[in-house]
Amino acid sequence: SSVSSDKATQETPSYACQRRTPLHHHNKEIVDALQILALSASFQGSEARYLGFTRAASVLKCLPFTLQSAEEVKDLQFCGGHSKTVIQEILEDRVCREVEMVKNSEHYQSMKVLTGIFGVGIRTADKWYRDGIRSLSDLNEIEGKLTGEQKAGLLHYTDLQQPVTRDEAERVEQLVKGALQSFVPDVQVTMTGGFRRGKQEGHDVDFLITHPNEEALNGLLRKAVAWLDSKGSILYHHIKGRSHNFARSSTMDGHETCYAIFALPNACPEKSPDAGTIQPDLDKSPPRNWKAVRVDLVVAPYSEYSYALLGWTGSKHFERELRRFSLQVKKMSLNSHGLFDIEKKCHYPATSEEEIFAHLGLLYLTPSERNA
Ligand code: ATP
Ligand code: MN
Ligand code: MN
Repeated sequence: SSVSSDKATQETPSYACQRRTPLHHHNKEIVDALQILALSASFQGSEARYLGFTRAASVLKCLPFTLQSAEEVKDLQFCGGHSKTVIQEILEDRVCREVEMVKNSEHYQSMKVLTGIFGVGIRTADKWYRDGIRSLSDLNEIEGKLTGEQKAGLLHYTDLQQPVTRDEAERVEQLVKGALQSFVPDVQVTMTGGFRRGKQEGHDVDFLITHPNEEALNGLLRKAVAWLDSKGSILYHHIKGRSHNFARSSTMDGHETCYAIFALPNACPEKSPDAGTIQPDLDKSPPRNWKAVRVDLVVAPYSEYSYALLGWTGSKHFERELRRFSLQVKKMSLNSHGLFDIEKKCHYPATSEEEIFAHLGLLYLTPSERNA
């Protein structure tokens, strides 16, 4: 097809997995606003409105130019009426009344704080809200009712609210690899999630673990985590075993997974010329030499590795769209274990992500193009 000079007539494919979504784009202000409305909708339990705003935001991430006038918005594809109104208001007035109202609402603010706790989902946070809980300090009253995960999340709340930097992620990688390799020297460890998509910071660090010999993976995660724990590197962990009996068509993920909070030692400071100078520091307690960091460790059998890699690289919206495309357009069921053709009743093995895209008849997208 020829390159059109008219921006508005450019074709946007309808599914996010059919287009390249870069990490950096040209409409940050509007995308941020739509994502606030999406989050607010999900806090209110409205999945449809969440999807509407998320899809609109995702479409804008692909635009190769900055929207300037409300006129340009009319022809935007796959962007609902409500989202268009929001975009036009921002373009005309710099702010959108609805977004400002949401940001100032007590429910939104409390839900944001409460769902920010590791182990607290929207349902739990909303139940707490209806019980009158608004802030972290209100949780002291129901401390006995918190799960172990939530207690750990609350204890390390401040650290876990700080973004994880790429440098920190790489130091976590060294810790994780060291532990796993002490048991299986040639184990394969890949950083997935947002860092694989090129993000410079994240809310956690995600890893996928595999080995050509499935026997080598038996018990490996538990042993490596116990080893790290014995060295004082783990503040909290919860291992979910592999489930063999999940439905093939299920979107549930049955891989063995460890959800953890690591105590990541600080980086060794660069030696400065006056490193030997003694600084009087009498009033302060000794500085803490570690930071709490959320870590997800996933084990995948070698035969499912490419599907697990695709599934754990994200983004969340990209994964959702990929599965929706598979089912609706290809009549195939995709999850992080494999791809099942519902009509032909057969599985498609794959040894790379490229092969999976090919099975689905999709143009291959690199991880950094999956920031939908
Ligand atoms: P962030 O920087 O916020 O961590 P992220 O893209 O890495 O961003 P994660 O929540 O860590 O976000 O998730 C990474 C990917 O792993 C997502 O695309 C998601 O689809 C997948 N994922 C996360 N949790 C699960 C789970 N319990 N089961 C299956 N897949 C999951
Ligand atoms: Mn992540
Ligand atoms: Mn994660």
